[in-house]
Formats: sequence, structure tokens, C-alpha cells
Amino acid sequence: MTDVVTTAIESPTADGSAAVAAVEAPERTPAQLPGTQGVGAGQVGPTGRVMPNFPDPQPLRSHGPARIIAMCNQKGGVGKTTSTINLGAALAECGRKVLLVDFDPQGALSVGLGVPTYELDVTIYNLLVEQGHDVRGVVKHTRTEGLDILPANIDLSAAEVQLVGEVARETVLARVLRPIADEYDVVLIDCQPSLGLLTVNALTAAHGVIIPLECEFFAMRGVALLVETIDKIRDRLNPRLQVDGILATMFDSRTLHSREVVRSVVDHFGDLVFHTVISRTVKFPDSSLAAEPITTYASTHSAAEAYRQMARELIARGGAA
Ligand code: ADP
Ligand code: MG
Repeated sequence: MTDVVTTAIESPTADGSAAVAAVEAPERTPAQLPGTQGVGAGQVGPTGRVMPNFPDPQPLRSHGPARIIAMCNQKGGVGKTTSTINLGAALAECGRKVLLVDFDPQGALSVGLGVPTYELDVTIYNLLVEQGHDVRGVVKHTRTEGLDILPANIDLSAAEVQLVGEVARETVLARVLRPIADEYDVVLIDCQPSLGLLTVNALTAAHGVIIPLECEFFAMRGVALLVETIDKIRDRLNPRLQVDGILATMFDSRTLHSREVVRSVVDHFGDLVFHTVISRTVKFPDSSLAAEPITTYASTHSAAEAYRQMARELIARGGAA
């Protein structure tokens, strides 16, 4: 509880009475936090708007072509990788064929799905900088049915420099994905925390961008620059690119602070903000350690339910088939 108290008091916008209110708010278990489950359709959700009904998606009769979505925020630790894994797994649960692309040299996406990255001879790096590889030979199946991954490891850190001298250096990833895009319904690219050439490649390959934002005070810092970058890429390289939405992560309904951050994000971005909000819970780091998506690691936990709702919301908005 201590961090709840300090968060509320330190929040520059929290006045004394609000801080007391935050401190006195009854302690609830993560399973009861709104934004995960418990806020049904028609009730006011954690973003302060009435929660629509997101119906169960219709099964697909055939697969592809994929809609490609970049999970992007140049800030680290905001939930890009966690959201890529768990949104991907939730979409796969809906019968979608999903390809995850690890586009961060840290390889956290690969490790988080149990791919032993140090043992790999060929990764996305080789597809980017060498000719003659078959992308299908680099794709790995995960233990989750319908969920595949193009893995990365630290080799990818060299690609940024190597690609600089390439012809059409911004469209290399788009060309790598082209042969398999028809076999998947959704491709999610887990971007690295920078706006460098790898991220520019992800945005050039994508139809949409999802921006995860951590519910903390400086969440919005840098978002203007990201939106500016997206606008430039739409202008110069990829006219189809759109912002699919902003996903608030690590939300703690007990703190005034979290609620205020979400409110200011909604004030700023309006309906671009997903109704689904991901609560802060230790189940996420736990499931990464277990190298499993939350949807199987803690299948009935509200955190798994949150990403299932996120998948339904994305499909309902037309962000995925
Ligand atoms: P990014 O890819 O943006 O750097 P990650 O998804 O790796 O961010 O998340 C950073 C850290 O925060 C990881 O240790 C992850 O397990 C943890 N984390 C992510 N989402 C949550 C959440 N909703 N609640 C608690 N911890 C989380
Ligand atoms: Mg990451």
C-alpha cells in the first residue's frame, strides 16, 4: 500500500482530499480491478467512457491476407512486448492465425515465448541483411496453436547500421514479410524502444500502429514525437498507415494517479484510446518467466481476460479480421 500513498501524494495534480480518498479506497485484488473484468457492457469503464459490448468474433473460414500492426512506443518498459505476446495469443484463441515479429535486438518477445534465441543460426536479422533465405524456414511455431514467431536475438542490433547503406532501406521488413503475409490473419511487430531505422521499417511495413502507454505520470512524454514520425511515414513511405489505438497498460485503479493519467490520455486522444485497459499485476512478469502467454499461464485470471477483451475490441474496430 505504501506506493499507493506516495503515488497519490506525489502526483502534482492531486490535492490533499483526493490523496486521502486514494489512500482510503478499499484494497482490492487484481481480479476485481475494473478494466479487466467486472466492468460489463453499458457500465462506465476505466477510461471514463461507457464500455461497449465487444461480441465474440465470428470464426474465419479462410486465412489471410494479414493485417500488419506495429506495437510501437520509443519508451521502454511500457508493455509493448507483453502486449504483443498476449494480444497475439488472445487473437489465436479466437481462431486467428497470428505471426509475431520480434523486432527488438533484446529478443524479449522470443524469450518470452520460449524460443532459445542464442541457439538460433538464422533469425530476422539474416532475413533483413542477407539474400537467399526462405522466411518460412525462420518462422517458429510456439506452444500456442495458431501463434508463430519470427525470432530475433542480439544480432539484430547490427542491422540498423548495416541497412543504412541499402537501397530502399526503409522497406526491407515489408519485403521480408511479403511472401508469408497471405498465410496469416494478423502480424504483430514488437518494436524496439527507439524511432530508429528498425522502427521506421516496422511502420513502413504496417497497416496500423498500436501505442501502449504505461499509466504513469510521464506516459505522454514522447508521444507527440511518435505521432509526428507516424505522420511523416504515412506521407513519404506508407500512405495506408493509421493509428489503430492507444492501449493503457499497468493501470492501478486504486491510485488516483493511474486514473488521472488515463483521463488525460482520453482527453487528448479521444476514441483512439482503447476501452480495454490492462491492469498492473505480477502475473505478467510471472508468465514471461514461464515463457508462456498469460492466456495459458493464468487462463482464468482477469489479466488474461483483459487481453481477450482487447482482441475482441480490436476485431470489433476493424483492426483485425
Ligand atoms: P516494453 O516491451 O515496452 O519494453 P515490456 O512488455 O517488456 O515493455 O514490460 C516491461 C516490464 O513490465 C516487464 O518486466 C513486464 O513483465 C512488466 N509488465 C508489462 N505489463 C505489465 C502489467 N500490466 N503489469 C505488471 N507488469 C507488467
Ligand atoms: Mg519490449
